[in-house]
Amino acid sequence: MPLHIHTPLIESRPLSLCAKRPVWLKLEALQPCGSFKLRGVGHACEVQQGRGARHFVSSSGGNAGLAVAYAGRKLGVPVTVVVPETTTERAKQLLHLEQASVVVRGSSWQEANQHAQTLLGAGDAFIHPFDDPLLWAGHASMIDEVAEAGVKPAAVVLSVGGGGLLCGVVEGLRRNGWQDVPVLAVETEGAASLHAAMAAGHTVELPTIASVATSLGAKRVAEQALACTREHPVHSYLVSDREALQACEQLLLDHRLLVEPACGAALALLARPEALAAYDNVLVIVCGGATATLEQIHTWLAQA
Ligand SMILES: *Cc1c(COP(=O)(O)O)cnc(C)c1O
Repeated sequence: MPLHIHTPLIESRPLSLCAKRPVWLKLEALQPCGSFKLRGVGHACEVQQGRGARHFVSSSGGNAGLAVAYAGRKLGVPVTVVVPETTTERAKQLLHLEQASVVVRGSSWQEANQHAQTLLGAGDAFIHPFDDPLLWAGHASMIDEVAEAGVKPAAVVLSVGGGGLLCGVVEGLRRNGWQDVPVLAVETEGAASLHAAMAAGHTVELPTIASVATSLGAKRVAEQALACTREHPVHSYLVSDREALQACEQLLLDHRLLVEPACGAALALLARPEALAAYDNVLVIVCGGATATLEQIHTWLAQA
């Protein structure tokens, strides 16, 4: 039994009317820890336990850390998550709920991550948030489920942070014989590390992240994410923080689901019919995210 659940695939009436074509939603927000991350992280943790790991270490104060904490609790493996001082109380609380040990170290993710590496000894497995083939193989299962449901999308819309979700979805499309189905890869303007890599022809490190979509805040994408854009049809789109936040509000109104702006970024593309004109229908990966509250989304909207 895998640690993730088989999520619902629904045809959204309100979003189909907005996008002027059928819109299918893969509801990864319903995974027990709130995001798609559990698919890849759960798979990586099970493989690492099989290889003898007795302790999992993560350096993500976001959904990847939460997924490691959840997986560790379910597998009976202790988990340490090293997070920077900027991590919100809510995120730390969620990690404690999953019984992870939380170590606060450093003023940025880089510093927290460096400290996490020093903790690694024999019997410890570091679980990366986006750059590991084990994660991509696990994420790919969401496309297997869409294929099993008998729905072939004309395009897949998803958000990109470090590119683990992109790599996993492309792997899933290929292993189901859907090499011809393009991916519309969406980032917010202040976290556009894939867009920059595609423009430069090599991965680049963004000087700063300036977006409320903190789960998209990888300064540099995985090399494999850029490779995916060469081996598969991938089109890059940017949306503003405001568009991402409005899409979160709309999803809550339409489907009673609260997601992070990181997920709102993908949903925001549905309000841009020109981006979807070539496709008879689209599948949106509703990647979810557990760290934003409604109050926070309203505060951000007032500031955007
Ligand atoms: C991690 C995450 C993303 C981005 O995924 P990557 O694999 O880093 O590209 C998007 N949305 C949510 C909610 C996430 O947790």
